[in-house]
Amino acid sequence: MPIPQHHEIVVIGAGIAGATIANELLARGQSVCIVDAANSPASACSSHAYAIAHPHIGRGSPRLLRLTRIAFLMAEARWGKQWNQHGIFQPTKKDKAFDREELQKHLQALDLDNDMARPLDAGEARILLGVEQSGVWLPRGASLSLAKAANDLLQKHKRLTCFWSVHISRLEACNGRWLLFDGAGQPIISAQKVIVAAAMEAKTLMASVDIRLPLKPVRGQLSIFSIAKNDPWAAQLPRVGISGDGYCLPAEELADGSHRWIVGSSFDEGEDDLEARESSDMFNREQAQGLLDYREGDSTSLKVADCFVGIRCVAGDRLPIIGALTQRPGIFLATALGSRGVLWSALAAKLITAQVLEDDFALLARLGFAADLVAALAPARFFAGALAAPSALGALASNSKPIFPSDPKAK
Ligand SMILES: Cc1cc2nc3c(=O)[nH]c(=O)nc-3n(C[C@H](O)[C@H](O)[C@H](O)COP(=O)(O)OP(=O)(O)OC[C@H]3O[C@@H](n4cnc5c(N)ncnc54)[C@H](O)[C@@H]3O)c2cc1C
Repeated sequence: MPIPQHHEIVVIGAGIAGATIANELLARGQSVCIVDAANSPASACSSHAYAIAHPHIGRGSPRLLRLTRIAFLMAEARWGKQWNQHGIFQPTKKDKAFDREELQKHLQALDLDNDMARPLDAGEARILLGVEQSGVWLPRGASLSLAKAANDLLQKHKRLTCFWSVHISRLEACNGRWLLFDGAGQPIISAQKVIVAAAMEAKTLMASVDIRLPLKPVRGQLSIFSIAKNDPWAAQLPRVGISGDGYCLPAEELADGSHRWIVGSSFDEGEDDLEARESSDMFNREQAQGLLDYREGDSTSLKVADCFVGIRCVAGDRLPIIGALTQRPGIFLATALGSRGVLWSALAAKLITAQVLEDDFALLARLGFAADLVAALAPARFFAGALAAPSALGALASNSKPIFPSDPKAK
């Protein structure tokens, strides 16, 4: 049997989650080994080039709202030149009336000042943004190419070892370390600490250590539409991002006067098929009409130039799974990023690094991680016997029987 190469810290998965965590560990002076089944970073869901980011301002659970605010600030601070800040507008839901005062109060309660979120009536939005709908303007909202960001984060570094085209099939505890086995069943790496950032495959890897994770795939297709120069749609296209039922990026005018416009996404629960579908483009055309409130627009004018299809990994309660797996000391999870890869990877980098390096609670608290938020993200939340009072480094659990939470409607 070959002698496995030893590394103190190994990250499995070089998507946006694994790349961001590895980069943060390097920045904290650690040596890191990252291993991926593909031959380069960001080959799977993180090959996405048009991911948007903004704090969540809907009526979701209070913890989700607090977490997305913290994560947004971390993401904004992290991605520097990759961060494309064009602002994002969130229109009022069609069945709701615009109430500036009520909205203002709601935004204040979320600790979002004017600089981050402000209500606009339809007239103000038309003048400021060219979108004639009431809603909330998020001027710091942005988009990011996950692929570029992940590649940037994994640039050559003297303390970074990369293993490409290595599929880890299972983990096994051995003399206080973790052994990582390749597809041929050979132990190729041993590690003190293993960070599993392998999206859906985290389920298989954790099954190999008798931990069952409630993860499911959600297929999504984003359409890249081309709109002819003199088409009536051209006058309607937004110069900011819009997020509501679906989302779109600002339209881009090309040299020949036509426009390129990215609109998404379908949300196909339980599906993991990467083939492009005409039905998903049709769905995105409908979302485009809804986002612009342009129902009378002829949707066949939105010609499909290209598309992106990816498989999101989603947990039963729609929150990401980020933190130490306290039942299997030395294993840390960063998975189930769902539709918020930009936000949750930035947050995962800070939280996982703090846990791997055993930072004290004061440091975690300074980052904004109250104990209840850490517990809300912790893998232990799915297991019977999770303690009501979480420790600073994640709630403890007594066994590995999963609790499948109720399944709130997807956004
Ligand atoms: C249509 C669509 C639209 C989206 N829009 C947005 C958006 O607007 N904003 C946003 O923030 N997010 C968005 N997302 C979500 C975002 O793309 C994901 O959350 C993010 O890419 C997940 O990153 P990851 O690193 O967890 O997973 P992945 O990118 O899937 O990376 C997992 C990596 O692990 C590797 N791997 C897996 N198993 C193994 C193994 N056994 N051994 C070795 N390596 C392994 C894989 O090769 C892969 O590189 C969208 C997703 C889709 C599909």
